[in-house]
Amino acid sequence: MHEWALAESVIDTIIEEAKKEKLKEITAVKIMIGELQQIDLDIFKFALENIMQSSVLQMDFDRVEINIDPSFLKCKVCGNEWTYSEATGKLPESESEAIHFIPEMVHIYLRCPVCGSPDFEIVKGRGVWIEYIEGEK
Ligand SMILES: [Zn+2]
Repeated sequence: MHEWALAESVIDTIIEEAKKEKLKEITAVKIMIGELQQIDLDIFKFALENIMQSSVLQMDFDRVEINIDPSFLKCKVCGNEWTYSEATGKLPESESEAIHFIPEMVHIYLRCPVCGSPDFEIVKGRGVWIEYIEGEK
């Protein structure tokens, strides 16, 4: 259910921002979602659209753009960085699925491709934020 809570806080932020900027009409909103934020995109979009329609916002849902912010893995030993999707893309489906639900599991399945260390951190890829809001005054 956290998709609905997230959608609600996104809409609240847009409303607040629109007030602050004295926007009469919002023409574009770009929302970023971290690759590892465990969100069901379809539910999130559905929630956004529904909450938006019953809110004070004067905007069409098709003006909303939702983008995924990719995650990186960074080795703590050698400093090598590689992309999360590149790393998990090579795993069998059952394992990449396990990681999808519990990103911390990534340490069990993956090793740094350069030095072989399991000691790496996940860089970015969490959270939901609004990249920009555009509108007309
Ligand atoms: Zn390494």
